[in-house]
Amino acid sequence: MEVIYSEECLKHAPKYEILSGSAKPYFESPQRLTAIKNHLASTDRYAILPPADYTLAPILRVHTSEFVEYLQTAYNKWVEQGGDSQGVLPECFPHPKLLAELGGAKAWIETAKRDGNVLAKAGLYCFDMSTTITGDTWNAAYISCQAALTGVHRLLQLDASSSANKPVGVYALCRPPGHHAGEDVCGGYCYINNVAVSAQFLIDYELEQVESLRIKDVSLAHPVVEVEKRTPKRKVLILDLDYHHGNGTQSIFYTKSNPLYISLHGTPDYPWFTGASHERGSGEGEGYNINIPLSKSTTDAEYLSALHDVLDGETALAFNADVVLVSLGLDTWHMDPIAGFQRLKSLETYWRMGEMIRTCAGTKHRPVLFVQEGGYWIGQLGDMVENVLDGFLGREMRREE
Ligand SMILES: [Zn+2]
Repeated sequence: MEVIYSEECLKHAPKYEILSGSAKPYFESPQRLTAIKNHLASTDRYAILPPADYTLAPILRVHTSEFVEYLQTAYNKWVEQGGDSQGVLPECFPHPKLLAELGGAKAWIETAKRDGNVLAKAGLYCFDMSTTITGDTWNAAYISCQAALTGVHRLLQLDASSSANKPVGVYALCRPPGHHAGEDVCGGYCYINNVAVSAQFLIDYELEQVESLRIKDVSLAHPVVEVEKRTPKRKVLILDLDYHHGNGTQSIFYTKSNPLYISLHGTPDYPWFTGASHERGSGEGEGYNINIPLSKSTTDAEYLSALHDVLDGETALAFNADVVLVSLGLDTWHMDPIAGFQRLKSLETYWRMGEMIRTCAGTKHRPVLFVQEGGYWIGQLGDMVENVLDGFLGREMRREE
């Protein structure tokens, strides 16, 4: 199986975040990526490939240009304005209660966008204190997204040449992750929503158009090409298996009927204000957003049963996706230091997740791109990824305990 990976993504390395009221070492660390990559490389069963560059155009189909410009320029402006060199963190947010008292809320937001003050923008474009912007963050986030887009491209190529019924999958080893990032807001360690950009890319482009957009080597110059509206080319199912609700992915597609977004997540937990089962999408998107909140005491068997029910359920079946994108968070594991279902304790569960994606009616016989999201128990991240991929490919499980 092919794995898309870039060392450039290791350079984003904030020293700390504010968590539970104090400064903690940054959990979303470069070591997460190297642990998974080294584990997969040690098995000789994976080809580790660098990302190509598909330009800023697919990113600008999902994120606003002013938000992208903020991510690109915030750190240098922050340092110029005397901010701590560790990176940009907000101190004040446009909280609904703060704005509700003022008739001129919109004017204040416009002022913050126009004004050069990075602290105001930091509160506007970020919703927590765990998503530091360093001097290397933009490049890492850009390349992380290009790794997912490269995964899409390879997936389409492999699918075009594959024999029937053989599982076709690619794994994009992305970092920083993406599923908390919205159209114009970062948070939860996420800056660019890799899965959302990939889904829109699949909806927008034929394989030949993807090929013509591709620049062989990923470029730090971040070329822009024209962004145009396109007719939908494919139906995409996004399956979000991260422990946390993918609020960003939900919000980006909330009013759309393609992709279909399905999330299983722990509750009550971060990001606290999204992920209820009654959030089903709106307008054209009504019914295309499925949230499955699970209690923190969920067991292996309960988790797998919930996953099976939704992947074999009527909505996924009726949607009849062409391609599946998996937001592969591994912070469901009971030992995860910042998340985890307390009674999800078997590594076999990860193998079963892969198996269900291969065999359940809503996802089987579809090409699948696995996109790395969260997961912070570094010692077993590699085992978990390998088990999901082995389950998907129909290989025997190597690691049970
Ligand atoms: Zn997570």
